[in-house]
Amino acid sequence: MFGLKADWSLEVFERYFTLGDYAGGEARWCPGCGDHGVLTAAQRVLRDEQLHPELTVAVSGIGCSSRMPHYLGTYGFHGLHGRALPLACGIKSRRPDLDVWVATGDGDCFSIGTAHWIHALRYNMDMTLMVFDNSIYGLTKAQTSPTSPIGFKTNTHPFGAIIAPLNPLTVTLGITNISFVAQTVDWNPPMLYETLKAAHRHKGTGFVRIIQRCPVYADSLAKELQGDPSRFLLLNHEKGIQIDKSASRQFPNQQEHDPSDLANAFKLAADTSRIPLGLLYWNPDAPCYEDLSSAGVEMTPHARLAGFNAALDRLTI
Ligand code: SF4
Repeated sequence: MFGLKADWSLEVFERYFTLGDYAGGEARWCPGCGDHGVLTAAQRVLRDEQLHPELTVAVSGIGCSSRMPHYLGTYGFHGLHGRALPLACGIKSRRPDLDVWVATGDGDCFSIGTAHWIHALRYNMDMTLMVFDNSIYGLTKAQTSPTSPIGFKTNTHPFGAIIAPLNPLTVTLGITNISFVAQTVDWNPPMLYETLKAAHRHKGTGFVRIIQRCPVYADSLAKELQGDPSRFLLLNHEKGIQIDKSASRQFPNQQEHDPSDLANAFKLAADTSRIPLGLLYWNPDAPCYEDLSSAGVEMTPHARLAGFNAALDRLTI
């Protein structure tokens, strides 16, 4: 932005980004879909952290949630099914200056993308990972997903899912070099916002599982949870996610949990009688792959070519 000074010379002002700067195309998710709330929360974090849109990239795989890059006024990469994380890691490894946000779903991340989920989290590259978990394949119209509860009726299991769901939190907490594991719900905007903000501020992969409403194909699941806040356990700690009283008092069950205590995080994640919300685990000292592997990023194309030729010369007979 420019302004005219009294002496008629130009003055360059600091740029200030508004929510409009982060708006992309019109969101075409179904009315009442929880994805709308996640988009709004993410845009607010982008605005409040004043991230430059031209230095921010949203990356996704396939699924309803993976449409997010289209709706953000940043750069975006709508990739292939299950491949959001390798794309994000590739972007981050060559352009560590970019702010990378990953939008993926329970089918995209916890099923076809499982291998990438495990290894990308082990690499712990500095990015914000939002998993929109609605326990159903929504885009392809109601197939059982890895997190569909047992007995839940879908097109692939019309008499109900027959195997217990995967627990994304215990799996994630078991990955080597994990650094940030949080869980939230889409229908509590202050908690959603604060969780995404904390995940973004964290240096490393900020894994956030968002329990998300799909009112079209899994309405009963979200309604059951929304109607009974005693199903949740809100985790409090000075090092955890800070939310104001108006948002936290909706949850009658609360507990102090130090997020550096991995053993207790496991215990909380494995206890199916209560769904933990908040920061389960945080290790700000876990190494990031891009910091260990950045050799060559600053090299000129000429220097790279010379290095490549030198390597080939070693093979000369
Ligand atoms: Fe959202 Fe479900 Fe509609 Fe997909 S099908 S946009 S998850 S409500």
